[in-house]
Amino acid sequence: MCYPRVEISLDKIRNNTSKIVYLCHENGISVVGVTKVFCANDEIVKVMIRGGIDIIGDSRIENLKRLKSYKLPKLLLRLPMISEAREVVKYADISLNSEIDTIKILSKEAIRIAKKHNIILMIDLGDLREGIFHETLIYKTVEKILLLDSINLIGIGTNLTCYGGVLPDKNNLKRLISIKENIQEKYKLDIKIVSGGNSSSIHLLKKSEMPKGINQLRVGEAIVLGRETAYGNPIQHTYQDALILKCEIIELQNKPSKPIGVIGIDAFGNKPLFEDNGIRKRAICAIGKQDIYHKDIIPIDKNIEIIGSSSDHLILDVTNCKKKYKVGSKVEFKMTYGGALSVFTSKYVKKIYV
Ligand SMILES: *Cc1c(COP(=O)(O)O)cnc(C)c1O
Repeated sequence: MCYPRVEISLDKIRNNTSKIVYLCHENGISVVGVTKVFCANDEIVKVMIRGGIDIIGDSRIENLKRLKSYKLPKLLLRLPMISEAREVVKYADISLNSEIDTIKILSKEAIRIAKKHNIILMIDLGDLREGIFHETLIYKTVEKILLLDSINLIGIGTNLTCYGGVLPDKNNLKRLISIKENIQEKYKLDIKIVSGGNSSSIHLLKKSEMPKGINQLRVGEAIVLGRETAYGNPIQHTYQDALILKCEIIELQNKPSKPIGVIGIDAFGNKPLFEDNGIRKRAICAIGKQDIYHKDIIPIDKNIEIIGSSSDHLILDVTNCKKKYKVGSKVEFKMTYGGALSVFTSKYVKKIYV
């Protein structure tokens, strides 16, 4: 049982990591290698480390716990749940935070195990996912953090292009730096880290537009898929095909393109609409929405058209393909970020290292 499978080129991921680490280090920026898209898969984490990342970052504390034997510092990317505070101080060296109530509980838990916990305070520069939005609340929160003995405020950070699609630019990142300077001055603090975003900040390095003072980026997609995510462009000297999804054809038949009969709703509660393109050669592959949504699948054979999918079936139109597919043939795909995320999460998709 080897299909569907995702073929992972460890060499390509290692190459991508070292190219991006080089680009960042050249600009005085340290790299948090983000492992959540591949569920912190051990083999991939190892090559990211060999590629030179400075910190391991993941959104799930379960993943960081599993990686506890690695020496690099570990950063929890998603704001902690209060209910997981005990695990957070134990398995993460650093966490991103925006809520003083949570930070207070982290402090209590850190005291309990005689540890100091490092936090990066998240600032919302307009993307409207996590982070403190109002500037007065930023300073109020800092004042309260300073009363907590076992919490070290080591940095401030932001996250962009995740919910609102807001792009990092000179203006919003300069605002982050000026907030840092205000905090330093007001409270006589040394704020060491200014964490300037994710893979969507990489394009600023390429254009030499990264404001001085940003000294950390948290990078996942750019390493794994070789793309910056502000404009979706490939990054020079990286591979875009380090991950390839392969699945098997289980039916290949000529059929009409328009279903026959009265149309109700499909398996997912939608009322589908169909165009009549006559008789087409249709291939069914043994993979479905339980593994990956068809919108996240990108055929490598450009003549394949994706028709749709249900929970366990992917339907393709292969009429225009030059390649002669048969039942049992394997079809290859690249994936979007969301697609990679879901195939790594699906236990039905085998992970094969090549
Ligand atoms: C996922 C995540 C990242 C990494 O994003 P990429 O687009 O994969 O580089 C960085 N920071 C936070 C807070 C995240 O949740």
